[in-house]
Amino acid sequence: MSDHPASGADVRIVWFRDDLRLSDNPALSEACRDDGPVVALYILDDVSPGIRPLGGARRWWLHHSLQALAIDLQAIGIPLLLRRGPAGKVLPEVVEAVGARQVHWNRRYTAAGIAIDTALRTDLKAQGVEVESHNGSLLIEPFAVTKGDGGWFKVFTPFWKAARERIGTPRSPLPVPKPRQAPALDVTGDRLVDWGLLPTKPDWSGGLAKTWTPGEAGARERLETFLDDGLARYKAQRDEPAAGAVSMMSPYLAFGEISPVTLWHAAAAAGGGRSDASVEKFLAELGWREFSYHLLYHFPDLGQQNFQPRFDGFSWKGDPAALAAWQKGQTGYPIVDAGMRQLWRTGWMHNRVRMVVASFLVKHLLIDWRAGEAWFWDTLVDADPANNAASWQWVAGSGADAAPYFRIFNPILQGEKFDTAGRYVRDHVPELAGLPDKWLNKPWQAPSDVRRRADVRLGKTYPEPVVDHDAARQRALAAFQEIKDQA
Ligand code: FAD
Repeated sequence: MSDHPASGADVRIVWFRDDLRLSDNPALSEACRDDGPVVALYILDDVSPGIRPLGGARRWWLHHSLQALAIDLQAIGIPLLLRRGPAGKVLPEVVEAVGARQVHWNRRYTAAGIAIDTALRTDLKAQGVEVESHNGSLLIEPFAVTKGDGGWFKVFTPFWKAARERIGTPRSPLPVPKPRQAPALDVTGDRLVDWGLLPTKPDWSGGLAKTWTPGEAGARERLETFLDDGLARYKAQRDEPAAGAVSMMSPYLAFGEISPVTLWHAAAAAGGGRSDASVEKFLAELGWREFSYHLLYHFPDLGQQNFQPRFDGFSWKGDPAALAAWQKGQTGYPIVDAGMRQLWRTGWMHNRVRMVVASFLVKHLLIDWRAGEAWFWDTLVDADPANNAASWQWVAGSGADAAPYFRIFNPILQGEKFDTAGRYVRDHVPELAGLPDKWLNKPWQAPSDVRRRADVRLGKTYPEPVVDHDAARQRALAAFQEIKDQA
């Protein structure tokens, strides 16, 4: 590697993190504002204290996303430099190597991310390097919305009301910038392939590749599909996993390949500027993402620690066999298994089914929500430190503004109610496809001749239920009773 300063002074670095896009990227736009040459940097940091390494599904996505980003940046004359290591060391090295006078980044909100960025800002400033940070990933940052008494929100509805008042109409999305000078760069970075982000032996990514096109162009394409064919049905059908009425924007948001500001304006424009129930519902879901970040910022241990301390005394069962059955989609409850197999195959799961499978793990199997959160972290392409943690705690009942613990989803009824025609279950659990709708969500109750005709042999082609629903429900309620009265 040869580290010679780029020729031409006043180089700016844009440090890309969870904002892998060119449009509506405040850090990139600011860096390109005047004449100086711009260098883009991505650091793969899985070693700094507190930084949680990406799960397998997100590593696959990151590889493809960085490939797309490099091509998009090249088209506007900006080289993308890849480096691996602790950001606190790597960034100052790159600053020196390219002779940068300015560094721009979009802010992040995990405790570890904030600590690294704060220390870097101090170090770089001490070296005379200007550091500018921006809001690139939220409609409103967690510290910009407060309760009347100055505190932070623990309940969604008042949070979103206050947040919407503060947001008003978000600023217009920023266009892709046009830097005036390409840097003459004599600094080399890592080769993406050498990071080994893609799975080999075995390569399990076939279903991901069929489902997704990572990168900014893929985000736009998916958004267009949603605007044309999902948004108008969103309010009515967003709970039906086979309806295709949701946006599937979550991985693109998690990697910052599209901004919430862009989504907001796209949805509002599609609603024709009129008040529209589907548009409002969609904006409120973006609001849940904002709320999760609000919680994470103010309660940084959201992913590890019960928000309600009384849950610290809950007697979770360590049950590796049941956990494995859940992970593999072999619980014997069709809607749960369909969800877990959709997750494994595509790296994504419909929200209604996420709630059902999470409730099943925590309540029917009495397995600690942190085991579920960790599995999702590894397998979801949209695994997000705020949304994943907040949602698991919401389902478990241990979170802020959580579902009450005694609300235990019945996996049979959930399947019958939200997958009425059985399309979702038949798609992901094909060995049950021949069962009539009436028995699809409870194959063990089907008369034996019905099962025989459908070629379903319990315990052979499809598992018996790992737990009995009614007994599991009673057991969960009794376990909750033990911590119920604690503060
Ligand atoms: P849409 O319905 O089209 O919503 C648009 C966007 O709004 C989503 O992309 C997402 O950014 C946001 N959103 C929607 N619902 C929620 C919600 N309940 N909480 C927070 N934000 C929301 N979402 C993640 O992005 N990453 C996660 O790691 C994650 N883990 C979850 C774990 C559990 C146990 C549960 C119950 C939910 C989890 N969610 C997570 C929230 C939600 O399921 C997904 O955001 C949603 O299914 C993504 O699909 P979509 O983009 O089609 O959503």
